[in-house]
Amino acid sequence: MKRPDPFQSVTFRLTAWHLLLFTAVSLAVMWLAEARLSSILRARTDHDLKEDLVELRADFDSDGLERLQEAFDREAKSNGPENILLALVRRDGESDASSEDEPWEGVVLPPAGALEMPSGEFTVSTVKHPTEEGGARVAALRLPGDRWLCICHTLSEEHEMRAIFHGVLPLALLGMLVTGCVMAWWLTGTAMAGVVRVTRMASTMGREHLGDRVTVGKEGQEITDLAVAFNGMLQRIDLLVRSLREVTDNLAHDLRSPLTRLRGTAETALTTDAGLAEHKELASSVVEECDALVCMLNTMLEIAQSDAGGLSLDTQEINLTELLSRTHELYRPAAEDCGLQLQYASPEGSILIRCDRTRLLRVLVNLLDNAMKYTPSGGVITLSLARKDDLVLISVADTGPGISEADQLRIFDRFYRADESRSKPGIGLGLSLCQAIAQALGGGITVTSKPGEGSTFTLRLPLRNDIPR
Ligand code: ADP
Repeated sequence: MKRPDPFQSVTFRLTAWHLLLFTAVSLAVMWLAEARLSSILRARTDHDLKEDLVELRADFDSDGLERLQEAFDREAKSNGPENILLALVRRDGESDASSEDEPWEGVVLPPAGALEMPSGEFTVSTVKHPTEEGGARVAALRLPGDRWLCICHTLSEEHEMRAIFHGVLPLALLGMLVTGCVMAWWLTGTAMAGVVRVTRMASTMGREHLGDRVTVGKEGQEITDLAVAFNGMLQRIDLLVRSLREVTDNLAHDLRSPLTRLRGTAETALTTDAGLAEHKELASSVVEECDALVCMLNTMLEIAQSDAGGLSLDTQEINLTELLSRTHELYRPAAEDCGLQLQYASPEGSILIRCDRTRLLRVLVNLLDNAMKYTPSGGVITLSLARKDDLVLISVADTGPGISEADQLRIFDRFYRADESRSKPGIGLGLSLCQAIAQALGGGITVTSKPGEGSTFTLRLPLRNDIPR
């Protein structure tokens, strides 16, 4: 077997797809998480700034400018003057009170957006910071008398939080990605092990390994189903090959005797000095032998055709009660000649079905011929017709020698003849043909028998085409 390219394997492809999807989903999750984190941090910063403004205003309203300046200095000291700027400014930018504003050079207060808002309103905006890369957030509260209470705070905290996030999340995702890939590789590989087993078995299978079966593992229902289905297919192939072998053996065996007889007859005709009458007799026995051979081959062909579903049916409406009554009338004299009694148990009323008349008669005739052939003189043969649920049952029962249980399982096989029957003429194809036709008609034949008591062959046909009277 050609060594498979590992990059073409389902395991590799599934893992690669898994990796691709996982990466795409991880990037999307990272992006969403970062956006959400940024908006939460920003909202928190703005909320804190506004709260500080409200507190400072309260201080200013109750204790005046001096206490406000003290509060500014306190805040600047605890946060670091480079991180915070607090100021009470006028429209022209002049401040009445302010924390250390040197590190905030270039930052214009009040911010442009706050100039036209009414007294008591807030604005929050982002401005550039001389040293802080992320900039700063400015919150302004307009006070009466054209003054603004402002707090500027650098966004270094947000920046730090985002840096932590950027450091931790990719590592976590990478860990998950690697674990996910290893798991995907392992799981796919385990599941594919069943497929590999089936493939190996299929590629090593030969005539002599037809009895081998794939081990059914525990990789999952689909793989189990595949292995079971494959084993089922092997079983059917095995049976088919065996029955083909059997048929070929039987055919060779059954052809050898008539062909040997034919050769013998022809040889006799060639070597004998007898007259025309004897030559004619030899020729007629050759014709008879040939007819029997042709008949056997035709039956074989018909069975094969039926097995392959290629039997063409001429379906028509049939009154079964009438057909069986006529068959009974036709066969009764022949049965009586053999010392047999042929009875017909007909049902009340008529049973009409749609069926192929000729094929149906072929089955009936075969079953009746067998009953007459195997039942010793003085016996009784009963032909009967009945309806059961959606089936029509036609039975041929005899009081003949019966069939052993082991033979009952085999009499429908091609060329099979029970040992006790070998004294009677026949080639063992009649019941195979009957079964093949019955199945082509949508039904089947079953046998019940007790050795020494007789046999009953029952042909069942579907009543779905029954025509109500
Ligand atoms: P054949 O009659 O040519 O041998 P069949 O296929 O018709 O072939 O029958 C197969 C075998 O089934 C017969 O050889 C015989 O052993 C058995 N069989 C069939 N019908 C009967 C019957 N009515 N009673 C006893 N045995 C039967």
